Amino acid sequence: MPEMPEAADESDHPCAGAVPLSDAHVLLGEGDPDAVARITRALRAHGAASVHAVDSPAAFLRAGTDPPFLVPRWDAAVWHTGLGGDESDLTGFLDRWRLQRSSAPVVVTDDAPSTRLALAALRGRAADLVERGDAPGLVLALGRALADRSDPLGVEGSGQTSPSMLVVGAHPDDVEIGVGGIIHRRAQAGWDVTILTMSGGEGGGDPVRRREEAHRAAEVLGARLLMEDLPDGSIADDRATVRAVERAVALASPDVVLVHSESDTHQDHRAVHRATLVACRTASRLGCYQSPSTTTAYRPNRFVELSEADVVAKLAAIGAHGSQASTRWYLDEDLLRSTVRYWGRFSQTLYAEPLELVHDKMPLGHHRSDHV
Ligand SMILES: [Zn+2]
Repeated sequence: MPEMPEAADESDHPCAGAVPLSDAHVLLGEGDPDAVARITRALRAHGAASVHAVDSPAAFLRAGTDPPFLVPRWDAAVWHTGLGGDESDLTGFLDRWRLQRSSAPVVVTDDAPSTRLALAALRGRAADLVERGDAPGLVLALGRALADRSDPLGVEGSGQTSPSMLVVGAHPDDVEIGVGGIIHRRAQAGWDVTILTMSGGEGGGDPVRRREEAHRAAEVLGARLLMEDLPDGSIADDRATVRAVERAVALASPDVVLVHSESDTHQDHRAVHRATLVACRTASRLGCYQSPSTTTAYRPNRFVELSEADVVAKLAAIGAHGSQASTRWYLDEDLLRSTVRYWGRFSQTLYAEPLELVHDKMPLGHHRSDHV
């Protein structure tokens, strides 16, 4: 159990700043009005934006799906076992919660938590199990669960300046297809995001039009676009390519770099991957994204959660490449959506984009979580 000091009244607990529930909306499954009042007071005092109480399993599950389905309504939930089901049923109940919705972590409370219950909670992937009367413990468990949810590349909150990310692609539309959702998500969170496209994509159509499309797409995602002029179809992993990436690095000073994977059948993609690895040898983090041409050797080990808004922005950015839409099988909207939905299963979220993290030199404690 957490090393929380004793406090007479949890509403002005001395650790108020240490485990902020930073504007979280919390769903509370709890039947006892006194407990509801006490828990609500404690969560609000630690920064929760709202606490919505329900008093039955059905209402809890219903609230989880309550409209609109695709937009997360709750950041976290608290479920009191006394509201229904035996211990073995808890696993099934939590499974149902997650199936119906939700990436929102659930902290389970019980009057006297047993080992059997802890096991059931574990199997149901509860974020934590806390004794019902232990409000400080509940606050701490929720704070931890919310921090764990922050995405695996999360360096936000690490310093005074906003984090910076450089995303490198060989051709216009490569980065949108690979990580359009992550770019949007980071840009929305205040990151400074730069896209570097190494060629004008003249092999796929009129280069002037493709440049305009690339700028529109970057605008949709909230990123700055740099375009180099290497030859589409014959980009080499030579000095010129390395220098092009180095110029972008000098401009963007990225904390995180994303690029094509080595496991890719397109030689331009592989060349850009290698050149970026060399140019970004000092970057804190470097991850590789998926392309339509990545092979089955692509082994992602990070999955970044996307919201519906991120997915919509990704599709809009890809849609901005209008000259490609009718000729490229992989730009089919249904396929793009299914792909982010598919990767979501690896992070128990609705949508995700995958990354192969190839190096990670982030100093310990610099980022909030790295749980995937
Ligand atoms: Zn490409």
